[in-house]
Amino acid sequence: MTLITPLSQAGTDGRHVCLCVGRGHAYRGGVKRVRVNQSLCLALVLLGGCEQRQSQPITMTAPEPAAANATQQTLTLTEAEWRARLSPEQFRVLREAGTERAFGKAYEEFNSQGAGTYLCGGCGAELFSSNHKFDSHCGWPSFYDPANAKNVRTVEDNTGGRTRVEVRCAVCDGHLGHVFKGEGFATPTDQRYCINGVALKFVPKPAAPKLP
Ligand SMILES: [Zn+2]
Repeated sequence: MTLITPLSQAGTDGRHVCLCVGRGHAYRGGVKRVRVNQSLCLALVLLGGCEQRQSQPITMTAPEPAAANATQQTLTLTEAEWRARLSPEQFRVLREAGTERAFGKAYEEFNSQGAGTYLCGGCGAELFSSNHKFDSHCGWPSFYDPANAKNVRTVEDNTGGRTRVEVRCAVCDGHLGHVFKGEGFATPTDQRYCINGVALKFVPKPAAPKLP
């Protein structure tokens, strides 16, 4: 059964640990590459992740104010319906605020993907674009901006004895990851949306038709 209901208050349980390192930037193949201290990177992963490199507050964002005649649609399913729709790993991440393994299969696939759009793996809402992806070497897909801001919302996450900004799908309230700001990445926003790859569904941009 599918219910369209007002957006519910997001839970803040669960953790999402992001690794954040990187200095010096260069672009290759349209995707920004960041040179990092790989040994530091590995060490921090083994230690269970790291903290944001700098502490800089990010303003919480509710979904963008809806236009006067438009209402943000939301998707609410039962736990059984979510389990039927998602893989066990997707359920753990999206519905239980879990975190996929760093540098895992989804991250490898993300790095190999070309132009296209990233939809929510739970509900199909448009979330991110390949235009905004960059390689932060953190072990999870990174974007510097959402593609469709009204489908992405942020909530304060105080789990684990620290305050971070959790990123959720505004349509199905699925946990996507966290966003960090002011880490020094040479992107237009200096924000890093650190997103679980299994929470996304990649749709490649159609190839341009060949000229006759
Ligand atoms: Zn969603």
